[in-house]
Amino acid sequence: MNYDVVIGLEVHAELKTNTKCFCSCKNESGNEPNTNCCPVCVGLPGALPVLNKFAVEQTIRAGLALGFEINKTAIFERKNYFYPDLSKAYQISQLVKPICINGSLRVGEKDIPINRIHLEEDAGKLVHANDGSTLVDYNRGGVPLIELVTEALQEPHIETADEAIEFLEKLRQVYIYAGVADCLIEKGQMRADVNVSLKPKGSKEFGTKVEMKNIMGFKSVHRAIQYEIERQRDILDDGGKIEQETRKWDDDKGISFTLRTKENSQDYRYFPDPDLLAVEIDDSIIENVKNTMPMLPQELKNKYMQEYGLSEYDADVLLQFKHVSDFYNDCLSGYNQPKTVCNWLTTEIMARIKTETGAGPILISKQNLIWLMKNVDDKKINRLSAKEVLSQIWGTDLNAEEEAKRQNLIIDIDTSALDGIVKQVVENNANVVSQFKETGDSKILNFLVGQVMKETRGKANAGDVMAKIKDIVNS
Ligand code: ADP
Ligand code: MG
Ligand code: ZN
Repeated sequence: MNYDVVIGLEVHAELKTNTKCFCSCKNESGNEPNTNCCPVCVGLPGALPVLNKFAVEQTIRAGLALGFEINKTAIFERKNYFYPDLSKAYQISQLVKPICINGSLRVGEKDIPINRIHLEEDAGKLVHANDGSTLVDYNRGGVPLIELVTEALQEPHIETADEAIEFLEKLRQVYIYAGVADCLIEKGQMRADVNVSLKPKGSKEFGTKVEMKNIMGFKSVHRAIQYEIERQRDILDDGGKIEQETRKWDDDKGISFTLRTKENSQDYRYFPDPDLLAVEIDDSIIENVKNTMPMLPQELKNKYMQEYGLSEYDADVLLQFKHVSDFYNDCLSGYNQPKTVCNWLTTEIMARIKTETGAGPILISKQNLIWLMKNVDDKKINRLSAKEVLSQIWGTDLNAEEEAKRQNLIIDIDTSALDGIVKQVVENNANVVSQFKETGDSKILNFLVGQVMKETRGKANAGDVMAKIKDIVNS
């Protein structure tokens, strides 16, 4: 049978703030376990939460970046459940009045509707030790987290694993550019729950969904979705029924297994947190966030294409990593050649920073790169020599100009000397030259240019050399 696939995403991202959501403990990872904790974030009786205003502003910023409406009044509720990483046995979250409602994100040709973004606190972390014991680290407990929930039960919605990944990648980019979250996947700063259901093709009624929680990494999300689609298809094809449940994706084994049959929101006994007032969000707060919104990926993309004449492909490559896009803009402020700078960044620089999971830092200063680009354009150094200098100074504090001079790479050969060398090379390679005359083969020409460049030790301009050789051969 043919089926429609329906996918809903719940995406958690840790906000970038100095302090936690309801106390003044540091929001910082990588510290000694249980050192960023206080009575509030571990939930000692009688400790009172105080809402972090900046966390609310960051949530509003995330919402505005995705075209959400901002609720005038937002409410914090307690979501009650017990788990060892949650020492107070409830999580402060939002159910009925989240901060942001009704947004959307473009995926392919579809505007995927998004139900909400709410602000909540993260839980601590269980650490499974080698001896079989389990330890708990509450440093992450109370860190502000935004949860975004897509709208799957209306058109359009996400229908394939590829669309889900595109959604997540775009969302991540928006969060990073807006400055609300770093979204480092490997640090668990962005995590997705995936909901999948199937229904007979064209049917109006939606099928029973299965949820897979806390999948780390987009590749795993893709695999988990594909696995789940196949699993449900097999069951339905055999005339079986889908159980509503939460499953755990095991990325090593490439399978999922039942974690629990699904709880619903009543099980959490949500109620307004009596320790926290409703949050009034007035227009001045929203205006202030709007006025301090950094340039978002789509805006930058339009600028790169329309103002700078870059191709869509190049614009996407530059925008894939914010530090690359930032560096691009920095370089332009010193050397206003959008296409040249783009070429260097999308080839030489990208090749050096790209890693399996993302991109590392750019280990050359803007001044040095500009010197290389400009002097290639001004024919003061050959492209090949410039790339060599780039390799040599990458990751060091060497200076491009000094290095080029030290290695004698500056093009400064005088015309008569160059003419002499060209003439000599043509004479020494009479056979090759006559072959070139017959065939016009550019490989032969390049060989001759190479010979001259070798004689000049790279100190002539390759384009000039080529022209001179052609002149002699054709005369
Ligand atoms: P729950 O209370 O079980 O967490 P929600 O209503 O919060 O369920 O929905 C969680 C996510 O699942 C949302 O993205 C929602 O759009 C999506 N969803 C809801 N029903 C379905 C379904 N039948 N198939 C696929 N996704 C669904
Ligand atoms: Mg939910
Ligand atoms: Zn604290």
